[in-house]
Parts: sequence; C-alpha cells; structure tokens
Amino acid sequence: MSVRELVVLGTASQVPTRHRNHNGYLLRWDGEGILFDPGEGTQRQMLRAGVSAHDLNRICVTHFHGDHSLGLAGVIQRINLDKVPHPVTAHYPLSGQRFFSRLRYATAYRETVGITEAPLETDGPLATTASYTLEARKLSHPVESYGYRIVEPDGRRMLPDRLAAHGIKGPDVGRIQREGSLGDVSLEDVSEVRRGQRFAFVMDTRLCDGVHALADGCDMLVIESTFLDEDVELAVEYGHLTAGQAAGVARDAGVRHLVLTHFSQRYSEPGGTAPTESGGEFERQARAAGFEGELTVAYDLLRVPVPKRR
Ligand SMILES: [Zn+2]
Repeated sequence: MSVRELVVLGTASQVPTRHRNHNGYLLRWDGEGILFDPGEGTQRQMLRAGVSAHDLNRICVTHFHGDHSLGLAGVIQRINLDKVPHPVTAHYPLSGQRFFSRLRYATAYRETVGITEAPLETDGPLATTASYTLEARKLSHPVESYGYRIVEPDGRRMLPDRLAAHGIKGPDVGRIQREGSLGDVSLEDVSEVRRGQRFAFVMDTRLCDGVHALADGCDMLVIESTFLDEDVELAVEYGHLTAGQAAGVARDAGVRHLVLTHFSQRYSEPGGTAPTESGGEFERQARAAGFEGELTVAYDLLRVPVPKRR
C-alpha cells in the first residue's frame, strides 16, 4: 500500500512563534520523500515528526527568504552525517545559487553524500520518475519564487464486469494490461482511465497565472495564506496571499483538499495548536470565499493524507 501524505514541519512565516516553527513540509509519495522549503529548525522538527534524513530524496526550495531556506544548512549536514545511501537532488531558483552554495557550505563538515544541485530558471518539468513528474511555475514575489507541482501519470482501472463479459480472467487480466489487447478485445474495452493524482506547493506569491496553473485540478494544494482578507493591501505590497484569495484559487481550480499555512505572527493562533482547535478566522474566510472541499488550517507536526482516488 503506497503512502501519500503531507507531514507539516512548520507553519510560521518570517519568524517562528511559541507554537509555530519556521516553514517546512515533507511530502511522502510512495517510497519517496520530498522536503519543501526547510526553514530554520527543520532538522529538529523532522525528529519530532518521525522523519529521518534517510527519508529524503529531493529538496525543493521556492525562494531564498530565510523562512524557506535557513534550514538547508542543518538538513544538508544531517544528510551527510547520517550517510544517506541514495542520491538527494535539490531544486531551487538559479538566481539564488549563491545563497544555496553558502547554506550548503555554511560550516565545516565531512561531505559523504553527493547532493545533486538542480537549479531552475524557467517554468516546466524538472524530473520524471515512475510515479510522478515534478514541475515548476514562476510565482510573483519580491524575490524570485517558484511553486512546485507533482503530477502522477494517468493509468487504467480494470472493470470487473467488462472483463467478465469478455470472459477474461486469471493470468489473461495481466496479459491484456501488459499487451493492450487480447484477441479482438482491447484494453479500452475492459478498463477506464484512472486519473493520476496531483499535488501542488505554492508559497510566497501574489495572485498570478502561476498560482492558478499549479493549483489546477489538484487533489491536494498546500498554499500560503500569510494574511487575513482585511490585510489584503499588505498582502499585495509584500507579495503574499490572504485566506480568501488562496481559497478562491482552490475553488476555481477544483482542489479537493486545501491546506492553508505560512501564517503571519500578527495573528495569534491561526490554526490552533492542537487537532481539536479550529482554524478560526482563516477557516471562516476560506469558506466565505466559496471553497467547499476538505480544508485544513495547518499547525506544526500535523499529518494530512492525500485524498483517496475518486
Ligand atoms: Zn515566507
């Protein structure tokens, strides 16, 4: 059984608070771990969340503000200390290469793991594996910022009644899946398209084309909502989203599970600190924007499963 879940490591923008670490998110996608935007303190949050350096295969950084990248130094050194046996690839805007290089070599350590630097400078696909394609889209923020999207290829779901109608059973089921036809029966006759799952990670941006493109049709969208709607002027000025804007994007894109995060410290406790607490005003404004899917106002160490296939 493949595991696809989001592990929330931190949810604070700009500065950590008493209850919120700087940003940080791990996406478990089948056997892989993709770490997004490790802010300061991510190494310790990983420990608290039960995530080890060995779980990491990729690191994706949206942009080089501290709340999205200061944790790189610690995480990269930990990957080396623990001698992670598989390759780890880092994606980040090429315009921030000097920041990445400094963080990678912030202090002395014994380098045992070859981290592949894969900076990006344009929209498009970054990597393809058996279970997903990783894509990036440029966002709108004072510092160059890219959002990321994971797209699973479409597959086919076998239909038992159609198989039975054509008298196909046992090893012949595998054969028609592999070969595309069996006698005069084609795979299309006995199966339907199984849409691949989609996940997007959108941090630090104003509303722009990239936000909508990343969110389109996502099963899960993790998106910043730094501000409440009444502070929309601040959001526009500093290149951020409000709860209502983020939820409006999710509504228009047909998102199934919306995860709001990256909260300004100006709001006392946006998502509560425990599972029993509600997301309060952020949740209310997201609903007021007309988003009707599953909604999570994130807090540290929360785990959110990617919704089951429809
Ligand atoms: Zn930020």
